[in-house]
Amino acid sequence: MRIAIINRDRCQPRKCSKECEYFCPPVRTGDETIIFEDSKPLITENLCVGCGICVRKCPFGAITITNLPEEMSDPVHRYGQNGFALYGLPVPIEVRVTGLLGPNGIGKSTAVAILSGILQPNLGRNASWEEVLQRFAGSALGDYLKKVAEKGVKTSYKPQYVDRIPKSYSGPVRGLLERTDERDALSDLVERLVLSRLVDREISSLSGGELQRVAIAATAARDADFYFFDEISPYLDIYQRINVARILQSLAKDKAVMVVEHDLALLDLLAENIHLIYGVPGAYGVITRPKGVRVGINQYLRGNLPEENVRFRESSICFEVHAPRIEKDIPSLIAYEAFTKVYSTFRLQAEPGVIRRGEVVGILGANGIGKSTYIKILAGVEKPTTGSFDSQLKVSYKPQYLKADNDVTVQGLLRSVARNFDSSYYQTEILRPMGLELLMDQPLLELSGGELQRVAITACLSREADLYLLDEPSAHLDVEQRMLAAKVMRRFAESTEKTVLVVDHDIYLIDLLSERLMVFEGEPGTLGIAHTPLEMREGMNAFLKVIGITFRRDEETRRPRVNKPESRLDRMQKEQGEYYYSVEES
Ligand code: ADP
Ligand code: ADP
Ligand code: SF4
Repeated sequence: MRIAIINRDRCQPRKCSKECEYFCPPVRTGDETIIFEDSKPLITENLCVGCGICVRKCPFGAITITNLPEEMSDPVHRYGQNGFALYGLPVPIEVRVTGLLGPNGIGKSTAVAILSGILQPNLGRNASWEEVLQRFAGSALGDYLKKVAEKGVKTSYKPQYVDRIPKSYSGPVRGLLERTDERDALSDLVERLVLSRLVDREISSLSGGELQRVAIAATAARDADFYFFDEISPYLDIYQRINVARILQSLAKDKAVMVVEHDLALLDLLAENIHLIYGVPGAYGVITRPKGVRVGINQYLRGNLPEENVRFRESSICFEVHAPRIEKDIPSLIAYEAFTKVYSTFRLQAEPGVIRRGEVVGILGANGIGKSTYIKILAGVEKPTTGSFDSQLKVSYKPQYLKADNDVTVQGLLRSVARNFDSSYYQTEILRPMGLELLMDQPLLELSGGELQRVAITACLSREADLYLLDEPSAHLDVEQRMLAAKVMRRFAESTEKTVLVVDHDIYLIDLLSERLMVFEGEPGTLGIAHTPLEMREGMNAFLKVIGITFRRDEETRRPRVNKPESRLDRMQKEQGEYYYSVEES
């Protein structure tokens, strides 16, 4: 079985010479494999021989031809001829948090639109509800879809991009929340999500992290059969992520809750079962049966699904226990004495420290604890209140919140900042792994959140500077993209001997990326203590001790896993002060 997908946004027949039709071998021998209808091409899949010539000839990379495994039946839904095809569906189960794990553009929102009754599945043709129900008869999914078809199910849905909420709501937070209070749970949610100080603020004045918490409260406050959260972690710090995980678990005591999440430590903690989704983003997606969360995440990292007999990635994503570099070999970039910065309501105290050339330092700490203030002082943008600090360092900075405010194209932006844009180093070490090659002609204003993030990371690394600072590069990136971005940042630091500082709350990303760690402690909004940069293990121990959670390494993939509170390992590791590595390794 073969499917041919044409990306309608990329396909621009007015700007090409219809290469797909011209070079297609069956067309040359008289078949109507590719025809032009209303000036756009249509590919008839059962006439296509799968040679892939059109894929290579299309100047805009608009065509994907994929062979599917033979045992695959018809799709559950297809967006028309040569449109995206979805195979399989997840099953919402009451009293459980079910996770969805897969790349962006693989059909998660499509699946949820079907489960919510917003989109009627068409089985890849014009199927009626009867045909759909017949196909799934006798399964839990069939029972669920029957409910959807007969009387509808009520869904409460938290969208992926909370930054867009102020465009559709204005007025104070209270107004938005009160509208959603359908099961008398709002005051509890306001308290647990620490929103009481926000309720009288205008929605438009909220930060991304505040919007995220308001959106989670509003979604959970509704009285629905099925709750769906499309990413909960962006802009939240680790404390807030763990807190939200607990809230969703209590919601799932008598409701069906489904969550898309790319922070794997959080997903591991949050969900009981997960469905993996693999395929080709933008072309087709296959949703697996539910798997236990540990096995599912491990299979995802390995890129290998034994039950389905599918390998969807060549290599596995590996977590190494890195050996620290020998300190005396590495020249320092900056050595600073202790300093403070005092604002009217906030005080930052920094311990003395050294940042070395060519290293990646991960920065961990709550929101509002002074991380940005510290960086501004390092960059010489702000002066410390006490302590001398004479920094001439040139800093390239990627902020946490991204905004595309003009219609320059991706290529226009990157050419304006990267002196080596045309070099093979830039193309192969940066643009390709960041997945930007096909986005080059897109205006920034038309990019999705994840695409904009990848462009912003790339632009940050492209500028000439001594120190590169990236604030939450993981936001809106899927697991694959996070791992690739981590590799790009690490190799960039190694090959250019520049220093990269990364603030992020995704423990897996920090683990893969960093050589050393800087931990911020204190009281958000009041006091921040910036500790000196430490070796990974020491740093993680210091950080996790404050949160009160311990991690062990998974035997199979070496990935960190949160220990159950009060379990044997949790208690033992706490006693030994080894919060991050399992006792066997220490
Ligand atoms: P995800 O939620 O995993 O990011 P989506 O379900 O939003 O993925 O989209 C999967 C694919 O389906 C994308 O390539 C998207 O372009 C396509 N798609 C989504 N909605 C439509 C639609 N209404 N018409 C045609 N194609 C669509
Ligand atoms: P983080 O980056 O860790 O989220 P920030 O350094 O941005 O934290 O902020 C720490 C605290 O300092 C916050 O409470 C913030 O309101 C306050 N703050 C930051 N900049 C200023 C300023 N220019 N004037 C007064 N207060 C500020
Ligand atoms: Fe024609 Fe199919 Fe080959 Fe494309 S892949 S050129 S449609 S035969």
